[in-house]
Amino acid sequence: MHNSTINILVLDDEPFMHKLLARMLKNLGYASVSACDNGYAALELIDHPSDYPDLILLDINMPEMDGLEFVRRLAERCYIGSLILVSGEDERMHQAAEKLARAHKITVLGHLHKPASPQGLDDLIGKWAAPLRHKPRAKNKVYGADELRAAIANGELVNYYQPKVRTDNGHVVGVETLVRWHHPRDGIVFPDQFIGVAEAHGLIDDLTRAVLAGAFAQAKLWQESGLLLQVAVNLSMDNLGALSFLDEVVGLAAHADVPPQRIILEVTESRLMEDLRTPLEILARLRLKRFRLSIDDFGIGTSSLAQLRDLPFDELKIDQSFVHGACTNEKLRAMFDYSLGLAKQLGMEVVAEGVEDQADWDFVRKAGCDTAQGYFIARPMPAADLPAWIRSWQ
Ligand code: C2E
Ligand code: CA
Ligand code: CA
Repeated sequence: MHNSTINILVLDDEPFMHKLLARMLKNLGYASVSACDNGYAALELIDHPSDYPDLILLDINMPEMDGLEFVRRLAERCYIGSLILVSGEDERMHQAAEKLARAHKITVLGHLHKPASPQGLDDLIGKWAAPLRHKPRAKNKVYGADELRAAIANGELVNYYQPKVRTDNGHVVGVETLVRWHHPRDGIVFPDQFIGVAEAHGLIDDLTRAVLAGAFAQAKLWQESGLLLQVAVNLSMDNLGALSFLDEVVGLAAHADVPPQRIILEVTESRLMEDLRTPLEILARLRLKRFRLSIDDFGIGTSSLAQLRDLPFDELKIDQSFVHGACTNEKLRAMFDYSLGLAKQLGMEVVAEGVEDQADWDFVRKAGCDTAQGYFIARPMPAADLPAWIRSWQ
């Protein structure tokens, strides 16, 4: 379907806006435009397949059913089209509304302040893409503990590696290890679908051991081929509950013959820990043995500042939600600058995660971030693909 043939619905309580937007859309070449002045009428259209709007220009501020309630009702109907928010509300209100719609898994192309300009409208509609009516079946599948236990034992978990590059000269300095499950039926399954299962069922130590062993062995292979890369591995807080974990990490690194200085352990506190004594001891002693510690997803989760206060981190990873788009979003930029300044003041290396496009890359370079990671540079890849990628990157 070409964009100019999509069904567009204008939902706004002011008839004047209907006329204005309809004329603008017509001039831009969009012929199929309808309008409603209240949410109930709009929902009726959505319930009729022939009138189904591919795109809704939604006024946030309407009497009776406001735009936010409308978003919830769209989600209840599993609306698969896209939204553009249009209103006179301020920027932060628009951002909150976008966030809400995305949390409901609705595609938002962006927002426009009234009065909208034809150019702004055209740019946003240009982002429209036909929805995936059939999401991959395995996407929301919940895996059982037994299946995961067997997968770990059978070696179905495979490490992927995402490059990390210096922003000043582009040199590849290391990789982050990201685990995938090569599922015999469902194909590649991503960690968000099984790390939680592992944590909940006491399998996370086995999982982390497998990931660490694979990553260290790979680091050794790269080292032997002349590639000196820092290799980062994600730890779960649940790995840090027993002191035996410390000996395991040290033992695995020694067995693989990889110096601790080349290993980065990424830690994120996804939930409140009641007793921090054991995690603190394990991490502090790993640092004493010269493993490098990184605070992951900085700014997200429970107590990032308290963690910074209590642990000798070498590196801080600014969460991707503060990086992508920070160049045009003042709120994100304030949070990005704050994290960067804090890390610099504490003498830490700073990694920007989620560098997705040229604008993000230019931004993190200018901001003075040490290294960057993200789809703009490279996606996580199997170890075998890395040497060729490095050649092409250079
Ligand atoms: P994370 O540690 O924050 O890892 C970064 C995630 O962001 C990865 O998702 C990566 O593929 C993705 N990513 C990289 N660049 C971009 C980008 O430019 N844009 C966007 N939107 N995303 C990007 P992945 O591999 O699905 O991993 C998700 C999370 O699962 C990780 O988040 C980490 O918390 C956890 N995880 C992954 N591997 C392991 C592991 O071996 N052990 C443990 N405990 N957790 C792991
Ligand atoms: Ca990480
Ligand atoms: Ca992260």
